[in-house]
Amino acid sequence: MRSPSPRLTTDLDKLADNARTVAALCAGSGISVMGVVKAAAGHIEVARAFVAGGVTALGDSRLENLEALRRAGVGDELTLLRLPQPSRAAETVRLADVSLNSELSTIALLSREASRAGRRHRVILMMDLGDLREGFWVLDGQAATSSTVEEVAGALRSLDGVEVVGVGTNLTCYGGVVPTGGGLSSLVRIREEMEAALGHRLAVVSGGNSSSLPLVLDGVMPRGVNQLRLGEGILLGRETVQGNPIHGTHPDVFTLTAEVIEVKEKPSVPIGETAHDAFGHKPMFTDRGVRLRAIVAIGRQDVDPTGLEPLLPGAEVLGASSDHLVLDVAGAAAAGTPVRVGDELSFRMGYPALLGAMASAYVNKEFVGGD
Ligand SMILES: *Cc1c(COP(=O)(O)O)cnc(C)c1O
Repeated sequence: MRSPSPRLTTDLDKLADNARTVAALCAGSGISVMGVVKAAAGHIEVARAFVAGGVTALGDSRLENLEALRRAGVGDELTLLRLPQPSRAAETVRLADVSLNSELSTIALLSREASRAGRRHRVILMMDLGDLREGFWVLDGQAATSSTVEEVAGALRSLDGVEVVGVGTNLTCYGGVVPTGGGLSSLVRIREEMEAALGHRLAVVSGGNSSSLPLVLDGVMPRGVNQLRLGEGILLGRETVQGNPIHGTHPDVFTLTAEVIEVKEKPSVPIGETAHDAFGHKPMFTDRGVRLRAIVAIGRQDVDPTGLEPLLPGAEVLGASSDHLVLDVAGAAAAGTPVRVGDELSFRMGYPALLGAMASAYVNKEFVGGD
């Protein structure tokens, strides 16, 4: 029996295929893949599919999700992707083998907690190459770079609970900065400077997320970059600069399904004076006359409606409130597929919709394949 809708269905075989395909592509450029499973909100079936596809190093941005992976024994090496919260340093060293860091005071806390627990916690030092999310600021020219490296290395030398294993960067997340060969070459250079300052080799140069995949696809990833942290590229089978599909991957790992609760012909422009909608936006309407519309039982509390694509040809998402998604289904009816109350409609989803649906307690998760 299928679980009731709304329902998010994950095809675990397709997902494992995607992990395998993307990892093979990266291996061709000397790059190993850290599988980023944060979009799965701790559902370990997704992480298991990454592992089945050969991606055994896993990353997540939340300690709760790492705990779920740890408890299930999934993954060889677990990385905390979001900078650790100082107040949760002890949990960080307990749940993550590696963490990404940009604050010396936090690294000192991690070192103290790791020593206390009789471990060494591995650290990747994040460098901000201009995207203005996390990272040590290293862009003010060569001299400033060197002084930053010296200062960081100097502070780290005395910490024996942590082992610095590499440098990394994150791009196209906040500032929308697109990774370039030149930008990532500077990360390789920073690794060399950091190695000299620390007096030991750094194994990892972590060159970003799925927005770095075009450099691999085009064969222009600088030598020396040897890791990418990939979520969307594997989950949705596409790079994230242009959104182009990655050859050989499945774009249809995830399907969202929700039930139709109203079908009526209504005008396409509201009647009466309009202010703003429930979310403070002034909605815009195009007058297309009277149209057949359907409401399905899912809303913004569950998904970001912008990335939802109905699988039914001729159906179109118009908008959503907290609990209602409104579609124009006139085209579907004209094409011979009338939509009725009680029908289920299914959707392909973008990354924001996937994040929401995975995390929503109201959306049932269904996993198929994977044995
Ligand atoms: C989310 C995240 C990633 C993965 O991003 P995708 O675009 O899904 O590949 C990589 N690194 C960090 C630090 C992240 O937070």
